[in-house]
Amino acid sequence: MSGVETQGVITKVSGPLVVAKGLVGAKMFEVVRVGRLKLFGEIIEIRGDRYFIQVYEETEGIGPGEPVLRTYNPLSVELGPGLIGSIYDGIQRPLDVLRVQFGDFIVRGADAPALDRKKKWKFEPKVKVGDSVSGGDILGTVQETPLVVHKILMPPTQSGKIKAIKSGEFTVEEEIGTLTTSDGDVPLYLFQRWPVRNARPVVRRLAPSEPLTTGQRVIDMFFPIAKGGAACIPGPFGSGKTVVQHQLAKWADANIIVFVGCGERGNEMADVLLEFPELTDPKSGRPLMERTVLIGNTSNMPVAAREASVFVGITIAEYFRDMGYDVALMADSTSRWAEAMREISGRLEEMPGEEGYPAYLASRLAIFYERGGSAILLGKGEPRGSLSVIGSVSPPGGDFSEPVVQSTLRVTKVFWGLDDKLAFQRHFPAINWLISYSLYGDVIGKYADANIHPRWSENRRRAMAILKREAELEEIVRLVGVDSLSSADQLLMQAARMIREDFLHQIAFDPVDTHTTLAKQGKLLDLILRVYDAASDALARGIPLWQILEQPFFVDIARAKYTPEEEKDKIDRLADRIVKEIAALTKKEEEGVSEVESESGVDSELK
Ligand code: ADP
Repeated sequence: MSGVETQGVITKVSGPLVVAKGLVGAKMFEVVRVGRLKLFGEIIEIRGDRYFIQVYEETEGIGPGEPVLRTYNPLSVELGPGLIGSIYDGIQRPLDVLRVQFGDFIVRGADAPALDRKKKWKFEPKVKVGDSVSGGDILGTVQETPLVVHKILMPPTQSGKIKAIKSGEFTVEEEIGTLTTSDGDVPLYLFQRWPVRNARPVVRRLAPSEPLTTGQRVIDMFFPIAKGGAACIPGPFGSGKTVVQHQLAKWADANIIVFVGCGERGNEMADVLLEFPELTDPKSGRPLMERTVLIGNTSNMPVAAREASVFVGITIAEYFRDMGYDVALMADSTSRWAEAMREISGRLEEMPGEEGYPAYLASRLAIFYERGGSAILLGKGEPRGSLSVIGSVSPPGGDFSEPVVQSTLRVTKVFWGLDDKLAFQRHFPAINWLISYSLYGDVIGKYADANIHPRWSENRRRAMAILKREAELEEIVRLVGVDSLSSADQLLMQAARMIREDFLHQIAFDPVDTHTTLAKQGKLLDLILRVYDAASDALARGIPLWQILEQPFFVDIARAKYTPEEEKDKIDRLADRIVKEIAALTKKEEEGVSEVESESGVDSELK
C-alpha cells in the first residue's frame, strides 16, 4: 500500500468504528491507516466531512487528534503464486510470516506482503511475441504445488500485444514480459491485484447443471449441490459440523478449497488453523493444504475484520475459478460476520432492522453468495469454471427462524439441516432428511439419470417419500404401538430403516465408507428399493411379514455399503440374488396355497 500523503484526523473512536475528518476526496471503501499505530481500516460511510472507518485491528489506546492516512486504494488482494497453502488473516496478511516477525500476538499495524517477495517461481510461457491477449488469457503457468498448476492470467481489464515474454524463474515482482497497450508498454508480472468488494468479471453465468459430488450419500443422493451452487449448513455444537466440513474439503470434486473462518473465540479458529494443515488429500495422498487457502481471523482482531475476511476469501476463490478450476469456498460461520455487521451498524446509529441486524443484512449476504456460480470465463476458447459456496450459520439456540438463517436461505439453494438429536443417536452425518432440501435435486437428477443410474431420480423420490411416511407412522406407533400397523406399513418401516441405516448413515472414519462414488450410491439405493419391492410383492401374495423379516439377507444389505468401489457390481448381483430368494418364498407358498389373500396397502406414491 503506497502513496500515503493526505492526512485526516480522528474525531471519535467507538470500538472498531473510528470517525475522522479532513480526508478530502477519499472514497467509499478506501483503505486508510488509522492513528499513530497505523491500524488498517476501511471507509464505510461518508457523511459530509465525517468519514466513518471500520478498523480491522483493536482500537484500544487510539484517540481523537491522531492522524488518519489515505492509501488511495480500496481493500485489495494480491493474486498470484504463493496463495496456495497460505494462512491469511482477514486483510490477507500472512499469519505465518507475521508470527515469525512479531511472535504469536501480532503487533498492531504490522504489515507484510501477502505473497512472498523472495520466492522464485518457474514460469513457462504459453504466449509468444506478437500474440494479441486480453483479460483472462493465460500468459503461462507455474507449478505452484504438486497439486496445483497456477495459470498466470491477463488481468481482466487489460489487453494488448505481447512485446516480450520470458521463461525461467521469477519472483512475483520481477517482470516476465512486456505488453504493448493503447497507452504504451506495460510490464507483466506473475501477480495482480484486485479490489475485494468487486466481483471479478466473467463472460456469462451458466445455470448449474452438474453435481459437485462429495462422496457423502445423504448429500449427493438426497440434497445435492451443483457445481457453482450455494449451500447453507447450520451447526449446533456437537452436531458433526467439523467432520462434514472436513469431508467436503477432502472429497468434494473441487480442485481448490478456500476456507474462511470467522470464528469468534480464539480457539474456534485455532482448531481450524491446526486441524486443516493435518488433513490429507485422499485422491493424491498429499497434504490437503497443497490445494487449499485458509483465511482466519486471529483472536485479537475485532469484529470488523470478519467482513474483510469473507470478501478476501471469495476474491481469491474467484481468481482460481478464472483459471478454469472448480473451486469450493467454505465460510464458517457467517453468523459471526452478521453479528459484526450488527455491531458496526449500531455504532453508526443506523435504523436497526429485525433483531437489531442492519436492514441491509440480506442484501449484503446475497452479494457474497451471488459471487459464486458456474460461468464462461474471460479468455480464449470459452473456458469454464465454477465457484461453489458453502456457508455455515450458527443460529442462537438452533432457531432457524432468526434473520441470518432466513436471509441466507433466501440466496442459497441447498440446506443441510444438521441436527444434534441425530448426532446424539450417533446417526452420522447428522443431516436431518425431513428438514433439509436442495433445489438442485431435479437438475442433478436429470444428469444422474442419464449418466449414473437410470432409476436415480425415481429412487431418490421414492426413498424420500418412504422416510416421510415413516415419520408419520412413528407418530402412530408412539400412540398405539407397532402392532396396530398393517403388514405393509410395517414393511415400509423396515425399508425406511434400511434407507437410514444402510444408506444414509456413513462413517467418516471408515476407509471404504468415508466416500462413495455416485455409481455406487445409485446401486446401493436401488438394492434397497428392489428388495422392498420384491418383499411388498411377496407380502401381497400372502407371505407373512415375519417370514420376510427373518430372512438372513438383511445382513448382506447392511454390509453392502462396505463393498469396495472396484467391486461395486456385486451390489447389483446381490440385489438379483435377494429378489430371486424372495420370489422363491412366494413360489413355495403358492404351490401350497391356491387362493392368495392380497394384503396390499402400500401407498402408490411409495411404489
Ligand atoms: P461439531 O464440530 O459440530 O462440534 P464434530 O464435527 O467435531 O462436531 O463431531 C463430533 C463427533 O461426532 C466427532 O468427534 C465424531 O466422533 C462424531 N462424528 C461426526 N460426524 C461423523 C461421521 N460422519 N462419521 C463418524 N463420526 C462422526
